[in-house]
This record gives sequence, structure tokens and C-alpha cells, in this order.
Amino acid sequence: MRRVSILGATGSIGQNTIDLIDRAPPGTFEVVALTGGRNVAQLAEDARRLGAAVAVTAHEEHLEELRAALDGSGVEAAAGQGALIEAAARPADWVMSAIVGAAGLAPGLAALEQGATLALANKESMVCAGPLVMATARRHGATVLPVDSEHSAVFQGLVGEDRAAVERIVITASGGAFRDWPLERLAHATPAEAATHPNWDMGQRITIDSASMFNKALEVIEARELFGVEPARIEVLVHPESIVHALVGFADGALMAHVGPPDMRHAIGYALNWPERRALPVERLDLAALGQLTFRAPDDRRYPALRLAREVMARGGLSGAAFNAAKEIALDGFIAGRIGFLEMAEVVEEVLSRLSSEPGRIDASFDLETVLHIDGSARRVAGQVISERTS
Ligand code: NDP
Repeated sequence: MRRVSILGATGSIGQNTIDLIDRAPPGTFEVVALTGGRNVAQLAEDARRLGAAVAVTAHEEHLEELRAALDGSGVEAAAGQGALIEAAARPADWVMSAIVGAAGLAPGLAALEQGATLALANKESMVCAGPLVMATARRHGATVLPVDSEHSAVFQGLVGEDRAAVERIVITASGGAFRDWPLERLAHATPAEAATHPNWDMGQRITIDSASMFNKALEVIEARELFGVEPARIEVLVHPESIVHALVGFADGALMAHVGPPDMRHAIGYALNWPERRALPVERLDLAALGQLTFRAPDDRRYPALRLAREVMARGGLSGAAFNAAKEIALDGFIAGRIGFLEMAEVVEEVLSRLSSEPGRIDASFDLETVLHIDGSARRVAGQVISERTS
């Protein structure tokens, strides 16, 4: 029986993970810890049904509500940042890291420190502190399994292969809601328009990040950290159908493509059952019915976030943490109607430039405290940049 914990159990990735656990034959999984944020009713319902040992809300003000909802169930209730980390550190074989944002970093590290396999959906951990995550995994004999569909696809493409023969990694992007819009319309795009994804059913923020390609920019940095491939060998390809998730190119010219339906339960299920492959309740593709798959190069003018990702990788250090935090604040600003769609990249670029002009702030060494410090500084500077633009 595999002992599993799910951090971010009430979110989209968490709920898909629970769906797979619910469908598995009895006795396959034992649920140790489930964590959530404000959706206490969902957290309590899942913890009861799955017989979790502990349920944790990130917010202390929700503890009483959680306790009441779990009354008589035998499930322990806890709240707050410390409790989240303790939940991640409870002995388990497999921990899903699906908290959104930089808040996922510390609990993910705690799971690695107990030697668990970390199924990593929280790409922000790798963007902010990839070297710290990978070093922690190595030190504790833990494994990091990617859950982002593109990275899971690359991981699967590398199984049994000679890493030294990898020439390039190609991750695909749908191109998001505006891939076919005329460039001059982008400046006036609204949050509602950006939050409509052509293929994937995801939350509002990640869907807007797909339209701006900030999501892909994070994924390029994540790929570099996960697979240790030089930035110049990581390519992005626009593939509107979202059927080919990634390709791995080898020294002999072969390109191994991962082809599957756009359903996160595939990548989650692969990680959940790894190293075995078990049947998953996902659509089986009919390629003849699909008829054709199309690809095109991304246009840097449409997607400045991709250029910024390359600059972040070239600079290294803590610039990933600054990039991620500035992007979060710029996204808040766009959703709130304070800045336009194209201004998000301008704000992020300005934050990177202001922080890098202060020696030592971005190039400091990696530890959790420094990463969180840079995260906070970048959020503050991004807030200032937006205020300057709107005043
Ligand atoms: P959601 O917003 O749907 O869920 C986020 C989860 O984190 C919820 O359980 C939420 O609790 C919890 N949470 C929010 N804020 C905090 C906090 N400060 N501290 C602790 N817990 C918190 O996100 P997704 O499931 O969409 O994404 C999760 C991660 O997976 C992200 O890093 C995302 O980039 C990545 N990812 C997502 C994909 C997708 O298809 N959705 C695809 C690939 C990667 P509550 O809701 O109860 O408040």
C-alpha cells in the first residue's frame, strides 16, 4: 500500500489526484495528509471519505470550521504554515506538491527531507529555487517526479535513454487565448478574454498565464532545473491542438514525442503509479479522427515572457524567484484592471532590472530564507512599478 499526502488537495491538481485515488482498487493507497486553503468544506469531505490521518488548512482563522467539519471522523485537524510543513513531513511514500505559488516551496522541501517521492505540480518551486529543491532531494535520497504535462512527457521520453545523447528538449504550448489575435489588439485584451483556454480546463490565473505565455516561461525555467539541460537546448513550439506535450531530440536525430489527450490526470496518474504504468481513466486518442497536428514557432513580439525567461536563465541566481514574484503581482494588476495585458511583461522586466541594479540582491546563494526574501522584495518593487504607472 502506497502512503500518499496531497498538498493543495482542494485545488484543480489536488482534486484530479483525489479522483484517481478514489477510482483505484481498495488497498492501493493510504492517505496520510491532505492540505488546503480556504475551501474547508471540500478538504473535510475528502479527508473523511479517504480516511486521512490529518487535514490542514493554511489559514488559522479556518481551524474551528475545519475541526467542526471533521468532528467524530477521527481525522486530526490543524492549521497554519507550521502545520502545513509538519503535514508534509509526516512519513509518506509519495507527496503531491500542488499548492499554488511560492507558498508551495517550504512544504515541498519538507516532503523531500523525509525522503518521499515528490510529485511536483508546483512549478514555482523549481523556478524560485530549482537548485535548492534538487540538492535537497539528492541529500535525502528523495525523487522529484514532474507533474506538469510537458515535463512529465520529457521525463517519460528520457526513461532508459542515455542522458548524454540528449540534444534538445522541445516543450509545446497551445499559444493560449490570443494566439490568432492581431498583435495590435493585445494591448486591449481583458482578463475575461485571457481566461478562456482553447484546450485545457484550468484555473483563471494559469489560463491567463497561458495567454501571455508566462506559464510557458516558467515551464522553460522548470525544464532547465529538472533536467539539467542548457537553456539553448530548450525550445518552445506552438502546437494549437495540445496533443503532443513535449519532444526529446537525441544525437542521432531521433525525436521522441509524447502524445496524449489534454487531461492532467494522465501526468498525475503516471506520477502516482510510477515506476509502474497502470490503466488511467483518460480518453484514448483517435489520431485518424484528429487528422492533423500543426506546429509553428512562437513569435517573441506576441510573447515577450519567453524572452524574459531566457534572460532569467542567463542570469541565474535568484532571478527566477524575482521573476515569479513580479509575475504574480503583474497578474494581480491585470486581473484588477490596473494594467493592460502587454504591460504585465513590462512590469516584470522593470522589476528584474531594478533588483539586479542592487548588487547581491539577486545573486545571493540559495537557501529558503533568501529565496523568500527576494520573493518579498520583488513583490514590493512590482507593486511600486504598477503604482507609478497608474498614478
Ligand atoms: P488551484 O488554485 O486550483 O489550487 C491551489 C491549491 O493550493 C488549493 O488547494 C488552495 O487551497 C491551496 N492554496 C492556495 N494558497 C495557498 C497558500 N498560501 N498556502 C497553502 N495552500 C494554498 O491551483 P492548481 O491546482 O491549478 O495548480 C497548483 C499548482 O500546479 C500550481 O503551481 C500550478 O502552476 C501547477 N499546475 C497546474 C496545472 C493545472 O492544470 N491546473 C497544470 C500544471 C501545473 P484553497 O483552494 O482551499 O484555498
